[in-house]
Amino acid sequence: MKRISVRRSSVHGRGVFALRPLCAGELILEYTGTVMSWKRAISRHRRFGKDGHTFLFGLSDGRVIDGSLGGNSARWLNHACVANCEAIEDDGRVYIQAVSDIQPGEELFIAYGLMTEGRASAAVRAQYACRCGHRRCRGTMLAGA
Ligand SMILES: [Zn+2]
Repeated sequence: MKRISVRRSSVHGRGVFALRPLCAGELILEYTGTVMSWKRAISRHRRFGKDGHTFLFGLSDGRVIDGSLGGNSARWLNHACVANCEAIEDDGRVYIQAVSDIQPGEELFIAYGLMTEGRASAAVRAQYACRCGHRRCRGTMLAGA
């Protein structure tokens, strides 16, 4: 049985939702796409960005996975500062795992943690502002900003 589906999200654009109960620690899917530098990804998205959806996932080495190039439904995961899923990085590949039990119909969230090379410009910061609404919202999807 399919575990997730992509549909309209009340948070932002489209989102990923659980179709059946997911258990804490359960591996849900891989975050696929093309690995590139943050700088290249940002300039690509400045040119091709459509609805402001962020298809970038930050790797620990400062590069990103661009889910808009060869990505799967994981690219529709929305960001939340306190997320019910986390990304496990293993040898340059990223897997999405549940961190808490998730009920069918719940939207799945991860914390993007995007690293910027140097100081992010005001425009970049504005583009990656977070509006998840959690009382512990950091106000940004960027790591260390
Ligand atoms: Zn937030």
